Amino acid sequence: MTGLYKYLLNLNPIYQLIDNMNNLLTSSFLLISFIAYGQNYHAEISNNFPEDQRIEKSESEWKKELTDVEYYILRKKGTERAFTSDLLGNKATGIYVCAACRLPLFESATKFKSGTGWPSFYQPINQINVAEARDPSYGMVRTEVLCARCDGHLGHVFSDGPDPTGLRYCINGIALDFEKEEK
Ligand SMILES: [Zn+2]
Repeated sequence: MTGLYKYLLNLNPIYQLIDNMNNLLTSSFLLISFIAYGQNYHAEISNNFPEDQRIEKSESEWKKELTDVEYYILRKKGTERAFTSDLLGNKATGIYVCAACRLPLFESATKFKSGTGWPSFYQPINQINVAEARDPSYGMVRTEVLCARCDGHLGHVFSDGPDPTGLRYCINGIALDFEKEEK
């Protein structure tokens, strides 16, 4: 701001008005940038699964292959009602695979009773099989977990889990199929 401008500002209300408008424009710009940044949160996906092995299908293909409720959870990021999954109390030994593409996701040995009403695990079978994304929906920031091969929504991961990782993978049972270990 030049000295003259400053000087006039003190004298003339018109210059004061111009200055206020400048401030208003600056804050609108900041607000717009903030909103744009907010929308980018969803793009912050961390996925290390090999690009050439990923599965991409159209919405109509997924709709055909999945049941209505699987489509709602896996493709529309839905959440099943708590305490409704058949897998919640499953204590059998085996592997939990993605209900959409059958990629192995969790092992029974890492399943624990969280009391939340959703199947819970303290770590994935292989870190590379589970992708993470920042999820700012519902006025909180959570970490969404997805099948790294088909992008299917699985649930969320929280940092209040048991040893040895301290993580709690809170997973929709509908997003999983259980493959019992053959003896
Ligand atoms: Zn999958």
